[in-house]
Parts: sequence; C-alpha cells; structure tokens
Amino acid sequence: MKLRELGEFGFIDRIAGMVSERNGVRIGIGDDAAAIETSPGHLSLVTSDMLVEGVHFDLSFTDPFRLGRKSLAVNLSDIAAMGGLSRHFLLSLAIPPHLTVEFLDGFVGGLLGMAEEFNVTLIGGDTCRSTGGLVISITLHGEQVPDLVVRRNGARPGDLIFVTGTLGDSALGLAQLGAGEREGEAIERHLNPIPRTRAGMAIAEAGLATSMIDISDGLLADLGHILKLSCAGAKIELDRLPLSPFFREKAPLLSSDPHSLALAGGEDYELLFTVRPDRASEVETLMAGMGEHATAVGMINSSGMLSVLSSDGRQLEISRTGYNHFTGET
Ligand code: ADP
Ligand code: MG
Repeated sequence: MKLRELGEFGFIDRIAGMVSERNGVRIGIGDDAAAIETSPGHLSLVTSDMLVEGVHFDLSFTDPFRLGRKSLAVNLSDIAAMGGLSRHFLLSLAIPPHLTVEFLDGFVGGLLGMAEEFNVTLIGGDTCRSTGGLVISITLHGEQVPDLVVRRNGARPGDLIFVTGTLGDSALGLAQLGAGEREGEAIERHLNPIPRTRAGMAIAEAGLATSMIDISDGLLADLGHILKLSCAGAKIELDRLPLSPFFREKAPLLSSDPHSLALAGGEDYELLFTVRPDRASEVETLMAGMGEHATAVGMINSSGMLSVLSSDGRQLEISRTGYNHFTGET
C-alpha cells in the first residue's frame, strides 16, 4: 500500500493508536500541542537529532525496523550523556511518496518498541511529504535534578578518562556493509546501537563524573569536545582501548589501521566520562552492578593537547577534530 492511500492523517491516527500514554502525559498526540507533567525540582533536558537518507542511513543496508530503533537510540544516548532520564519525544518525518505503508509500519514498530523498552512516550510530531529522501527528526525530552546533570566542561587535570563498552564496532560494521556483508555482530552494532541509558543515569546519580559525552563522532572527536570546553588536554593509551573479540578478529581484515576505527570511528554510542582519581575504583563496582563495563583509557592533563600513546611508546599525531596518522618516535 502507498502512503497516498492512507493519507497524512490516516498515518498519524495509525501511530496514535499504537501509543499508550503514560509518563505524565496530560495531552498526547492529536491536539495543537502536547502537555506533559514535569517532576518538581527537575531541569528539563531537550535534544534533537536528524537522520537523513543518503547522509545518515542507506535504505539498501538498513531495514525499517532497525532504522526506527536507531532513530530513537541516538537521542536516548544524548540524554544519557547528560546523566538524565529520558521521558517524552516528538517524531517529525518528511516521507517520499514512493515509500510503502509496510515500510512505515516497520519503522514505527521498531521505534515504538524501542520507546517501550526505554520507557519513553511519543507525544506528537509533524508529518509531511519529501521530494527527496526520507528525513527523520526526533526531539527527546528528559529530566534530572540540577546538581546531577553532567556537562562537558568539568574535566580537570588528573581525572581518569573512562569509556563504556567497546569502541570501533560500529565503524567496522559500516565498513563490512560497504564491503557487501549483510550480517554479523559489528553490523548489528552499527544498525541497532543500544544507548547506555542506565549507565549514564547511574554515573550521574553516584556523582562520579566530572564531565561526560556520548561517543557519536568517534573517541578522539568527542573527547576533543570535552577538552575544549574543559580547557584541558589528555593522553590516551592505545593498548587500553576496549575492543570486542569480533573487532580484534575482523578489523585487521578490513583495515590496514584497525586502531583508527576504534579511535575515530563514529556511532558507537558509548559514554565517555572523566572521574577524579580518588574515585576511579568506584567505577568498576558501579558498572558491574548493572552488568556493564567501563575501561580507563587515559588521563586528563593540562597540556591543552590530545595525544595518543601506542604500546611501543610512539606518539600518534592528533588534531582536535579527529585522527590523523602515526608520526615518528617521540
Ligand atoms: P498542526 O497542523 O496543528 O501542526 P498536525 O496535523 O501536524 O497539526 O498534527 C496533528 C497531531 O498529530 C499533533 O498532535 C501532532 O503532534 C501529531 N503528529 C503529527 N505527525 C506526527 C508523527 N509523525 N508522529 C507522532 N505524532 C504526530
Ligand atoms: Mg503540523
């Protein structure tokens, strides 16, 4: 069935029929604006991310279900990186007329399944026709008490730099898709990232992090944002980067420089956070309690520079925006 036959309002009604209103939603889909209850004493955290066909996703690689999940995941990751609890979201779509209703049902099914898993409620959005590709824009609302919100600007010299999970898997998955592969653990991580929402909140509520960011553009680029806003530098140790078993096995087959995937590859949606050295031992306990893992990969310093030390003692040359290449001995 073509979207034309269903119409804009038929489509919105279909979505509205799939949403169960809770989470303090007073007025949900169907009026001129939504009304939500906010928790007393909390700040609202609001984030928005756009996914554009041909720029952020390729419909020949991704199925609608996982595209729906990922559209929400990237926003959940941003609220997690503030240490917040995600609660409500708006969904805006520009849809090319040739897309089928079956495709849209798959997309909405994936999206609302993800919403259910992470206890967030769809409260509205906007729908229009696209003369180009599919455009997905989600605005997510969350909250946290002011003292627990974790920003990018609090890293101080001596702080240890931690990352959750493993790095480079998504970039490896994208490379595998480009090479014609269609399934595997890395591809799954690329198409269906799982945001670290529980870890982000727990880190904030333990008051453990001096700064935090989610890794969407690669470790170096995102650490670069923390360094810039914290007016600091950092040293990363290459052999401390957490790499998955499948990354260790497959990355060398696809890349002559696998470490660059872990340092500069995007879309892992792990959290990077900095911790005062006297509290570093608490991180492992906290994460283990949630069945998760975080690894110390380096330390903040006052150099104003970001450097990466390889296991043989060589220093990699890094620009703030990303990874460049190996330079000689140091
Ligand atoms: P208006 O013309 O006043 O902007 P719309 O017709 O665009 O109203 O939207 C009607 C209702 O449907 C609103 O509650 C809006 O938030 C909701 N809505 C529109 N598109 C979507 C969508 N893609 N997902 C969820 N709700 C939507
Ligand atoms: Mg509208």
